[in-house]
Amino acid sequence: MTDIEHHLTPKETVRRYCLQCVGGVREDVKNCEGTGCALWPYRNGKRPPVKAFRKFCLQCSNRSCSYIAACPSVNCPCYPYRFGTNPARSIKYEKVLRERRFYAQASMLDGQAMVNS
Ligand code: SF4
Ligand code: SF4
Repeated sequence: MTDIEHHLTPKETVRRYCLQCVGGVREDVKNCEGTGCALWPYRNGKRPPVKAFRKFCLQCSNRSCSYIAACPSVNCPCYPYRFGTNPARSIKYEKVLRERRFYAQASMLDGQAMVNS
């Protein structure tokens, strides 16, 4: 299993992002004064709708949809939710996973063939 198959839940994602944002101090997340931040209402454990991540990514990218689509920060906790959808429920996402598995298996077989030759 890869990381992409084990992404965090929306609630865990906010928790992780907020902790990163304030340098890991829980009390600072609680006391965050960034009321304009799209994640702010959810920083203390309230379950966020996935649309909140789209809003947050628009804030992060200065409202650039193209930046979000090609966001280079694949390790950002919000990355799987950046389109405002839950990738675990996305048919397209399932297709991406299937393709990744296929190519991973193909490259493993290629590697074995090279060892055996
Ligand atoms: S609510 Fe926004 S500004 Fe506040 S800690 Fe979380 S990510 Fe940072
Ligand atoms: S996924 Fe990309 S656009 Fe969204 S918050 Fe993270 S770095 Fe910003």
